[in-house]
Amino acid sequence: MRILVVGNGGREHALLWKLAQSSRVEELFAAPGNAGTARLAENLSVAATDIDGVLKAATTTKCDLVVVGPEVPLAMGMVDSLSAAGIPAFGPSRAAARLEASKAFAHEMMSKCNIPAAGSRTFSSFVEARKYVAQLRFPIVVKADGLAAGKGAIVAESFDEAETALRDMMERRIFGEAGDRVVIEEFLEGKEVSLLAFTDGINVAPMVPACDYKRVFDNDEGPNTGGMGCYSPPGFFDSAMARQATDAVLLPIVRGMADEGWDYRGVIYAGLMVSDRDIRVLEFNVRFGDPETQVILPRLESDLADILLSCVEGTLDPAAIRWTDRCSVGVVLASEGYPGSYRKGLPISGLDRNDADVALFHAATALSDNGGTMTSGGRVLAVVATGNSISDARDRVYDNVARVSFPGMMYRTDIALREVR
Ligand code: AMP
Repeated sequence: MRILVVGNGGREHALLWKLAQSSRVEELFAAPGNAGTARLAENLSVAATDIDGVLKAATTTKCDLVVVGPEVPLAMGMVDSLSAAGIPAFGPSRAAARLEASKAFAHEMMSKCNIPAAGSRTFSSFVEARKYVAQLRFPIVVKADGLAAGKGAIVAESFDEAETALRDMMERRIFGEAGDRVVIEEFLEGKEVSLLAFTDGINVAPMVPACDYKRVFDNDEGPNTGGMGCYSPPGFFDSAMARQATDAVLLPIVRGMADEGWDYRGVIYAGLMVSDRDIRVLEFNVRFGDPETQVILPRLESDLADILLSCVEGTLDPAAIRWTDRCSVGVVLASEGYPGSYRKGLPISGLDRNDADVALFHAATALSDNGGTMTSGGRVLAVVATGNSISDARDRVYDNVARVSFPGMMYRTDIALREVR
């Protein structure tokens, strides 16, 4: 098989790393990829959001499958265009991708399918939203309806904070049209877990659960980021809870989408809040998580190319997918200043000093003119180790983190620590 992976982050590097282990894969391509993917695939200079460019690239490279990594091209309808041209593509259609692209739509579907979620109201008028918020007890959560690169959810502790969030989104339009509608949600307490699943539109095969760390600094301090680290499995989310979430959330949403006639093939990702009382949905994503993918795929024993193709062809067999009991921990190495402004183009050293079984997934790297590798964004690399226990994986990951360096490199030192204590 010849496979093209669309995207340029750590998630896409991890997908290519796993696909490269498949005996069925002949050649891999990335659009546009990064310095890490260049070691496994041919990087094509096509942007991840360039639908015509990806279509053309998939045709000229004679790819049998295109895997769309990020949410933006999915929401733009990249899979619809590829499918219409007869190119098998992994990912939901544009209509189905609204589950992530519109939080109001996700709430409508959850209510239609009786899926447990936070109570919510949607507003397209600032005045109405403000009036509603004025009578609530705090904290509440204010969310931009559309895609906002993970920054669109604000936990407001007071009316003033909620009003500021509403003004920023609806009047100042800091997220553009994504904030023209807002969803006001009840604040849920508990522990967060990400449960992803493969689906062919009918069958649902849950992956192993994972926990990510969104805040930039240790002890969950500082602003939200795209994710600073992750581990799998979380001790507080056992297999019975995973089954419960599959039955109460994943299966009903996939069936609900099918009932409406929306083709959902790809990954369905539920962000869940788990409390002593129940499990409720915080959000749906319509693609592999980043950095969840980097810790989940090292635990997958089955052939990823087979699974992705079976999702597209409608022949997914959940019982055939095997996972190891080993634990994995991933630590993101970021640029000083992230998620605010940071420097780029800084040389990275130690990229070949990791243990053979510890993965270094590139997220924002580029090749420099002298043949070295340099930083090209905020989240630069993810170091991922597996072990017989979380503690073992944690020790190994931090041992390997210490071998990489670039000016201003920063990372959290407490990833998965709560599982060890
Ligand atoms: P989202 O973009 O919807 O995943 O929200 C980002 C983060 O905000 C989540 O990972 C949670 O930590 C937090 N969050 C979102 N919705 C809620 C909620 N209803 N209650 C509590 N925390 C939330």
